[in-house]
Amino acid sequence: MYLAVVILLLCRLSFEASSVPIGSRSILRAIRDNSSADLPDAAVDLNATNFDYVLKDSPASFAVVEFFAHWCPACRNYKSHYEKVARLFNGPDAVHPGTIFMTRVDCALKINTKLCDRFSVSHYPMLLWGTPSKFASGGSEPKQDGEIRKIDDGRTAERLLNWINKQMGSSFGLNDEKYQHEDLHSNYSDPGQIARAIYDVEEATSAAFEIILEHKMVKPGNRASLIRFLQLLVAHHPSKRCRKGSAEILVNFDDLCPSGMLIDNTDKTLATNEMAALGNFQICGKEVPRGYWIFCRGSRKDTRGFSCGLWVLLHAVSVRIEDTESHTAFTTICDFIHNFFICEECRQHFYDMCSSVSTPFNKTRDLALWLWGIHNKVNGRLRKEEASLETGDPKFPKIIWPPKPLCPSCYLSWGHENSTNGQIDWDQDEVFKFLVGYYGKTLVSVYKKKGLNRNRRDEIAMTDDMVGATNAVVVPVGAAVAIVVASCAFGALACFWRSRQKSRKTRRNWS
Ligand SMILES: Cc1cc2nc3c(=O)[nH]c(=O)nc-3n(C[C@H](O)[C@H](O)[C@H](O)COP(=O)(O)OP(=O)(O)OC[C@H]3O[C@@H](n4cnc5c(N)ncnc54)[C@H](O)[C@@H]3O)c2cc1C
Repeated sequence: MYLAVVILLLCRLSFEASSVPIGSRSILRAIRDNSSADLPDAAVDLNATNFDYVLKDSPASFAVVEFFAHWCPACRNYKSHYEKVARLFNGPDAVHPGTIFMTRVDCALKINTKLCDRFSVSHYPMLLWGTPSKFASGGSEPKQDGEIRKIDDGRTAERLLNWINKQMGSSFGLNDEKYQHEDLHSNYSDPGQIARAIYDVEEATSAAFEIILEHKMVKPGNRASLIRFLQLLVAHHPSKRCRKGSAEILVNFDDLCPSGMLIDNTDKTLATNEMAALGNFQICGKEVPRGYWIFCRGSRKDTRGFSCGLWVLLHAVSVRIEDTESHTAFTTICDFIHNFFICEECRQHFYDMCSSVSTPFNKTRDLALWLWGIHNKVNGRLRKEEASLETGDPKFPKIIWPPKPLCPSCYLSWGHENSTNGQIDWDQDEVFKFLVGYYGKTLVSVYKKKGLNRNRRDEIAMTDDMVGATNAVVVPVGAAVAIVVASCAFGALACFWRSRQKSRKTRRNWS
């Protein structure tokens, strides 16, 4: 009873401090006046069970956490203000996605008592600001000069956004419209930027798979090609959760997509149902896609995004494969693009470039440099097309890549950079070294960096199980070898896979 009175007093104090007038009528008016009342909440509800996990995993640079109580009238009134700001940053329609993660925690729920204590919540609503990782690892008394800060002036949407703008030196506005005020710049000389592309690679993988299902692209003739690509992803995708998701799909592939079903067109219902079941598998987990791009974000709505993410995925895979896998990986990528990249012109061009390869690849270097070379060919062609049709992204013009500031040593000292026709004297050893560092070491799952890798052994064991259980083997590429071994003895698979992972880890320390 005493506690309830204290909380009510706390709530009332903060309520009086707010600019919103007191009274049930005003609450109703606030709700009715809010034209966005029917929209789903943009701020993400967190609780004690997912708080650390979700924040650790957030690609956003900053986070705001609103601590509130569902019964507190001031909090209910404040909700529309908070939502107005949250809509700018959260969700698929966000104007500035990936910048600030807006969340809330209901301290009135018993489950959250310790969590709210951890952040010394003294009144409702109370807003805290910090980096997502600081929230995930932190707690204790928020200090004005500390890494987690109390937002002392966020009583209306305008004031909250002003406070944020002061912190970030930004000029976000409540009326910003999508892509209207984009301030994106291609910073070609910052090699660290690629680290954030892990989110785009996950999103592109998810999108690719969704497109395949949506457009019912799996046919008897290309089923094996999809399986081979999934096998490549199980072993070499830079994101841990995509490796796991690909393995899950592979394990269930025969059940979900039996070859007979694709041939038997008379039973369309079966085909549709099975496809829907396959669609229930989210290849990179249920958090992905997030509905935005970070590294691959265009300054216009219709530029970059998916195809950029797909290129990054292919480059990331190309530097991760073993020498012995290089030619199989090459044909796997060629077949996948040819069968499943929905852009007709792109897949045709790509396939022509694949077909012109006459000597088998023996080394990782061969594949990585080939992919880099053909990507530059595409860049060169598109640069002209985009210039004449004005279809390119003005902030991200196509260039012959990597530009000198990004990799000075890639350019031979006696060579010249002719950016009009791409005639550059490359030091290919240096280019390969650069690709390995850029798409390998720098582009990795963020979980490891953020200390979430403690279950690595479990994950490997689970992947062993999942990969081992499938019989969807067509061509042995990396994981496929493991699958064959597994069909003989699961124990052998576990040892094999673990030793692979260990040696990969020791040799490269990337994945
Ligand atoms: C396989 C494939 C084939 C395509 N073919 C066509 C086509 O025929 N016609 C068409 O109009 N569009 C095609 N596209 C789309 C086009 O290439 C771009 O992806 C799209 O225009 C978006 O460009 P972007 O500026 O995001 O950079 P992208 O070209 O998508 O590149 C993404 C990122 O990769 C890096 N990068 C750039 N060049 C290289 C390189 N040489 N090596 C390694 N990394 C590099 C850069 O950091 C860049 O930001 C294709 C895409 C793919 C995946």
